[in-house]
Amino acid sequence: MRSRPYGESDKIVTFLSLDFGKLTGIAKGAKNSRRRFANCLDPLTVVRVHFRTRLGATLAFMESCDLLVPPSALAEPSKLAYGSYLLELVDQLTDEAHPVPEVFNLLKDALYELGEGPATAAFLRVFELQLLRHSGYDPQLTTCSRCQRVLVGEQPAYYDPMQVSFVCGTCRQGRESLIEFSGVTLAALTEMKELSLQQARGKRLRAPVVGEAAQLLGYLMAPHLPRPLRSVKLIAALG
Ligand SMILES: [Zn+2]
Repeated sequence: MRSRPYGESDKIVTFLSLDFGKLTGIAKGAKNSRRRFANCLDPLTVVRVHFRTRLGATLAFMESCDLLVPPSALAEPSKLAYGSYLLELVDQLTDEAHPVPEVFNLLKDALYELGEGPATAAFLRVFELQLLRHSGYDPQLTTCSRCQRVLVGEQPAYYDPMQVSFVCGTCRQGRESLIEFSGVTLAALTEMKELSLQQARGKRLRAPVVGEAAQLLGYLMAPHLPRPLRSVKLIAALG
């Protein structure tokens, strides 16, 4: 996921693993002797890590890595920017040493799909929805959180950032600060919850839904993102 130099020759590396979740380790000599970690410590690389942990130690001791999938399929600037975006979202939504295999597989599948085709709006929204769900924050999009009236349809719905939930037009009365979204966008996102990443790549969203869906997912993820996403600047620079 990320690494930084440590001392004269070492690197501190944070990686996401299937079995142990997110871990941070020290790769001794990684800066100088590249043999044990050759091309393995760059972000977006899929590797097998050989490491040891000691009880009470915060850092894993990384012995070596085997390169499985190099990030070369994501070398193109837009793929690199969106790949970094997916990686940063996972990084911020996961806790260290708390394995969630679904999140590991989601990221692995998403990076593969990104290598195969463009990051369409539907692809990004499906990734975000699945990440929220596997992180325990599955949003309720279909009914009013107060009166249970169905929200998906022609009527607008209103997002309450304090409650991280949606209400209908009636329950919104007197609360002008709530943010209006089209019921059509909620319907599209509800439908997208059932799509795989592969299906999402082939799905076209209608023009008004594209912007609203991106904005809405931004609101839903914001409470869980402790730091600003650096990759957003990369994406903006793509124009
Ligand atoms: Zn209501």
